Order: sequence, then structure tokens, then C-alpha cells
Amino acid sequence: MPPTYSLIVPIFNEEETINVLYARVRAVMDSLGEPVELILVNDGSRDQSLKLMRELQRQDSSVCYLSLARNFGHQIAVTAGLNFARGQAVIVLDADLQDPPELIPELIAQWRQGYQVVYAQRTKRKQESWFKKLTAYLFYRLLQRLADVTIPADTGDFCLMDRQVVDLLNRMPEQNRYIRGLRSWVGFTQTAVLFERDARYAGEVKYTFRKSLRLAINSLISFSKVPLRLSTYLGLFTAALALGMVVLVLYWRLHQPHSPLTGLAAIVIAILFLGSVQLVCIGILGEYIGRIYEEVKGRPLYTLAEVAGFEPTVTKK
Ligand code: UDP
Ligand code: MG
Repeated sequence: MPPTYSLIVPIFNEEETINVLYARVRAVMDSLGEPVELILVNDGSRDQSLKLMRELQRQDSSVCYLSLARNFGHQIAVTAGLNFARGQAVIVLDADLQDPPELIPELIAQWRQGYQVVYAQRTKRKQESWFKKLTAYLFYRLLQRLADVTIPADTGDFCLMDRQVVDLLNRMPEQNRYIRGLRSWVGFTQTAVLFERDARYAGEVKYTFRKSLRLAINSLISFSKVPLRLSTYLGLFTAALALGMVVLVLYWRLHQPHSPLTGLAAIVIAILFLGSVQLVCIGILGEYIGRIYEEVKGRPLYTLAEVAGFEPTVTKK
């Protein structure tokens, strides 16, 4: 019998947390009173995470796991979990217990009310650096202004999605996956459940500044064409500036014999200014073209090294 709920947890070097995570999630699973599968996705961990996952799977038949052949990144790890999930409602949560599993019944209650997507929205982040809080705050506001779809602010990947939504996400072939955006893009009825984001249970943040920045750029480019239009605006702006200068220089030539525009500095500044505007525009174009290249190659999103616990459905196929 397929489970009613699937819980997906992406794991990258979380050996210190897995057992505590399992204990807390197990308690919630027991309280639901319906069949649940827990899908742990190992995203190329280099510590003991996979070993711990194997052990849990041996002890508990409702635990399944996937092990990606290397580190593919959080969004791809979640995607792999979504591909394998069999539940009618699929819940995604982080391994580090920043997303409290105890919130899951509330997400489910909203789903029972008829919402296809129930996302958890942070009202507070505990113990995160001011830099992370500030950049996250600014980023979500910028994304809301630029993106073609409304992506609610301060929501992470912690959410519940109906089978219908998961099937749609699974049919999207794109390589650059910003799941929060895709989740909003599908539409249907969506609602938020508010929560306070806990501090990480143990270990280091796995989203380094570089990974976060890449995710931010990815999301902007996947959901907005405004940056492309920026080069048109910049071009128009510099054209207007140049025209203004023409008028000014003509005026000086005719009325002021000692023109202030004789210096080399003025020319150098103009060249540097135009050069940098052009380079920035080429860079923006490059970001889009690079992504087109990625998509055209059409490589699989991930490679799997090990799969366990899905047997009944896998053998039926
Ligand atoms: N994660 C992953 N692959 C990565 C980076 C992170 O699967 O390359 C997982 C990580 O194990 C955790 C979740 O994604 O379960 C969120 O990561 P983290 O807590 O470091 O990010 P933050 O809470 O700062 O968003
Ligand atoms: Mg975290």
C-alpha cells in the first residue's frame, strides 16, 4: 500500500544530527496515524551520514534512502527525493532541525482543508548571523519585485506539497532548479503556516556564502528577465548622457574658449564608464547563455549510487 505521507530530508555531512532528527521525526510519524515513508537523501556526504542512514533503514522499514553519487546541491537532492516519493502529500524539511518536525501536523491540517501547497513561513530566525539575516531579507524583497511569479518572502524549502504538485515538479526538466520558485509557479491554492526558525542543532552551515549566492543568482535568472532588459536601459541612459555632453561641449566651444573638457581624465573616465557598462551587460547575457547551454546538454539531474527501502514499488514497475 502506498504511504499517505512522504517526508524528504536532504543530508550533506549531518552525522551529528541524523539520529536526533530521526527520533523527533519518528515521534511525529507515529502521531499521524497513517502510513508514512521517510526518505533520506544523501547528497554526497563525506562523513558517516550514509552509514547512519543504512542503519536506520535496517531497523525501520518505513525509512528509505537515496545516495547521490556526489554532492549535487540541496535543490537537486530534494528533487531526487521528490522523484522517488510515493505519498499523497510530500513534506520537505532540512536535516539540521532548523525546520521543526513538530510543525508537520499543522501543515497536514491545512492540506486536509484543501490546500495543495502549504509552506512554512519564518517569522524569526534564531541564532543566525546579522549578515545572513540582512542578505536574506534584501534578497527575498528583490526577488519579489523582479520575479514573474509571486514567491512569498521568508519561506524556505520546508513545505508540504500535494501529489498533483509533485507530479508537475517531476515533469519539469530544468537543470537550474529553484524549488521555492517552481512551487509558486505551479499555482493552485497555497497557504502559509508561520513558525520560528530554530538554530541549527549541530554542525556547520552547509550552504556556504558561495552556494547561497549561486542559489540567489539562479533564482533571479530562472524567474526574471528584468536583468536582460537592464542592458537596454543602461544603453539608453548612456546614449542620453552622451547626447547631453554633445550639447554641453558645443556650448562651451562657442561661448567659453577655455573649455574644461580638454583634460585626458575626462576621456579616460568616459572610456572606463562605457567599457564597464558593456562588460556588465555581456556578463548578464553570459549568465543566461550559460544556463541555456546547461539546459541544452540535457544531462540527468543527478546520478545515484545507492537506493534502498523502495522495493515494493520499484519491483512492480
Ligand atoms: N544540503 C544538501 N546539499 C548541500 C548543502 C546542504 O543536501 O550541498 C542540506 C543540508 O544537509 C541541510 C539542508 O540542505 O539538510 C539545508 O542546509 P543548511 O542548513 O546548511 O542551510 P541553511 O539552513 O542555512 O539554509
Ligand atoms: Mg540549516
